[in-house]
Amino acid sequence: MENFDVAIVGGGLIGASLATALQRCGMRVVMIEAAEPVQTELARVELDSRVIAIGHAAVRLMQFCNAWPLLDPARASAYTEMQVEAGATGRLSFDSNDINADGFPDCLGYIVENQVLLAGLQLAAEACGVTCYYHTTVKEILEQDNRVQVVTNDAEITANLLVAADGGSSWVREHMGIGKQQLSFDQLGLVARIRVTQPREKTAWQRFMEEGPLALLPMSDGAYSIVWSMRSECAKQTMAMPAEDFEDRLTTATQGRFGAVELLDKVRGFPLVSKRADRYFSGRVVLCGDAAHQIHPLAGQGANLGFKDVIALTDQLLAAKQSGKDLTSPRHLRIYERARKADNIITDGLMRSLHHMFAGRMNIAAPLFARGMGLFNALPSVKHWLVGHAVDSEPVSDQLQVLGYSPNPDSGRV
Ligand SMILES: Cc1cc2nc3c(=O)[nH]c(=O)nc-3n(C[C@H](O)[C@H](O)[C@H](O)COP(=O)(O)OP(=O)(O)OC[C@H]3O[C@@H](n4cnc5c(N)ncnc54)[C@H](O)[C@@H]3O)c2cc1C
Repeated sequence: MENFDVAIVGGGLIGASLATALQRCGMRVVMIEAAEPVQTELARVELDSRVIAIGHAAVRLMQFCNAWPLLDPARASAYTEMQVEAGATGRLSFDSNDINADGFPDCLGYIVENQVLLAGLQLAAEACGVTCYYHTTVKEILEQDNRVQVVTNDAEITANLLVAADGGSSWVREHMGIGKQQLSFDQLGLVARIRVTQPREKTAWQRFMEEGPLALLPMSDGAYSIVWSMRSECAKQTMAMPAEDFEDRLTTATQGRFGAVELLDKVRGFPLVSKRADRYFSGRVVLCGDAAHQIHPLAGQGANLGFKDVIALTDQLLAAKQSGKDLTSPRHLRIYERARKADNIITDGLMRSLHHMFAGRMNIAAPLFARGMGLFNALPSVKHWLVGHAVDSEPVSDQLQVLGYSPNPDSGRV
């Protein structure tokens, strides 16, 4: 039987970053992942049409994990402008060049291929000494007096604390009997890579439509990754369309702003749900990332919230360790839960409201929203505040900063 301080179930974006951050803080960590590792060499990760828009707090965590320097700049592109449209008149745009604050980063965030970021994090986890079990599924969790025993298909592990980072359908959360609130949007998020004849450099673009929001996220090779949310029935028909019909539909949806559209790969669909765990910890088990909260991807915030969970949980576990307490200290886990639950619920609530507004159930509010966007757009100080808020990190303790975590905005260039 192997003994660890922390066992993490799930080696996705959240599990892999938490494993690395905790190991860097002097804890012995094991990460258990059901799938194979993404790739042992970053350069060989296949092109992924699904990308992730990450903000500066996430980048600072990647830097702390030493995963950021591993990424090829050609596969993690900075975007400097964001344009959001709604209805016939609603327009809101953010440009990092307009925000002349000291120490303000030179971009709004980064668009990174999902699999590239995951491979970077998994490689960083191994490099810093995390014990990684891939192709390994957790079968049983047995809580003992002062340890938790994890039984997998080929190993038995004990740890002080077990973290569920096993995603939205978390087996650990269900096994522990932690309840959740769930809402199905009855939508799929369609994802694909496209090329357009009139690209806008380093600009992320989004349009809210009655059928659902559409986002075009710029990749560094000039292509775009789209996330197009629409009702499940309509999404299935759209996925089954011949490429030319899909391209025509997309050209219409973008109102020709990007010229003609060419589809570069197969369209994939992801079911969209919102889930909120009732509690973030129970006994020796704590939830993190999508296992604790899953939200609509219309603002690209799901993983960003999860990365903030990672920072807050790392900070609290480090504080417990340094004060000689057990890692399951309810005081520290409660601080983590309080800090993150409110932010996650507020963001989820906002995403649900935006979805309902445009999905027709609150269609009186949609024109008001579009008008409000115009108003915001005319107020540089409000826009500055909004972007500043998005750039800010979670406040963390001095101890985590001593270990190299920098909460300050910087250019973070890959
Ligand atoms: C279409 C779409 C676009 C999105 N775009 C963005 C974006 O731009 N920005 C953003 O911030 N977020 C975005 N998100 C959300 C983001 O993808 C998720 O929030 C994020 O991937 C959650 O990471 P996770 O590690 O918590 O969960 P997951 O990615 O689900 O990882 C969980 C891992 O646990 C493993 N696992 C599960 N069960 C077990 C078990 N029993 N034993 C061992 N291992 C197990 C799985 O194999 C998996 O690797 C998007 C989501 C969608 C659907």
